[in-house]
Amino acid sequence: MIRSVSLNKFNNPDYTISGERRAKVELKSLKTLWFNTGTLCNIECKNCYIQSSPTNDDLVYIKVAEVQKFINEILKLSLPVQEIGLTGGEPFMNPDITKIIELCVCEGFNVLVLSNAMAPMMRKKIKSDLIKLNDQFGDQIVIRVSLDHWDCVKHDAERGLGTFEKTIEGMRWLNEHNIKMAVAGRSEFSDNEQTARMAYEELFRLHNFKIDAFNPSETVLFPELEENAEVPEITESCWNILNKSPNDLMCSNSRMVVKRKRASLPSVVACTLLPYDPEFDLGTELKNSLKDVALNHVHCSKFCVLGGASCSA
Ligand code: SF4
Ligand code: SF4
Repeated sequence: MIRSVSLNKFNNPDYTISGERRAKVELKSLKTLWFNTGTLCNIECKNCYIQSSPTNDDLVYIKVAEVQKFINEILKLSLPVQEIGLTGGEPFMNPDITKIIELCVCEGFNVLVLSNAMAPMMRKKIKSDLIKLNDQFGDQIVIRVSLDHWDCVKHDAERGLGTFEKTIEGMRWLNEHNIKMAVAGRSEFSDNEQTARMAYEELFRLHNFKIDAFNPSETVLFPELEENAEVPEITESCWNILNKSPNDLMCSNSRMVVKRKRASLPSVVACTLLPYDPEFDLGTELKNSLKDVALNHVHCSKFCVLGGASCSA
């Protein structure tokens, strides 16, 4: 059905600029609950989707007691959550991070930590905690390391001089201690995914890393995010035209908890990509977040529907 026409794209959660019904995604089953551990990061990458840096604390460090509250809610509502994702910023800067990991694995969840594997992870106390956690819960923990490119020069161009070597050093340490790793790269640099995967494979072989470069959940290649990119809005008829299913999108199976600076309580948001937009804030409890999400943001089109990315393992 065609409705009234809006002046701008991504302006109306129900209708697109051309008046067609906007696509919505139903939460099929909450499989992954993400926690943003805080936006502070030890580095400042050129294209960080969440604008992390050594000074950005728009999302503050989440505390273990706050995570516990959401874990309790998962259990109380018998939600089918299998995996807890921890993302930042750099999660290993959060003072509670290893207590948070311990809480989650003790409750039986798999834990995926997104890290740059640099100095914050390499601190003595963190290393010793990780070794202990891995000894007891190694099957449940994966550290997914951001290695934007297999080529040192291109990686450093994005993340800063010397970052490639430091990340490889962190990965070597994880490897030596048999801590399960995955890798997240970016696809903008390479026009051919197969070539990129072959190059990652060679790098992993060189360092004896036990990561499968051809398994998309072990080596995840993300499309680049451009906030101002010209992209079409997604209508209900797009699913058939694009041969895509709404069930493949992150918001059909996950939510993220964020703690905004000056907020008294953490909030649940629709996905990891939209932590700041109030339209995607679903309240302070999981029970109120289990609803449809209107694809009313440029990221929905560019990153998820047209780019086909997902954050989970
Ligand atoms: S390491 Fe990750 S969180 Fe930190 S600035 Fe880079 S992309 Fe952002
Ligand atoms: S950005 Fe992607 S995961 Fe997030 S609400 Fe939009 S479509 Fe869903």
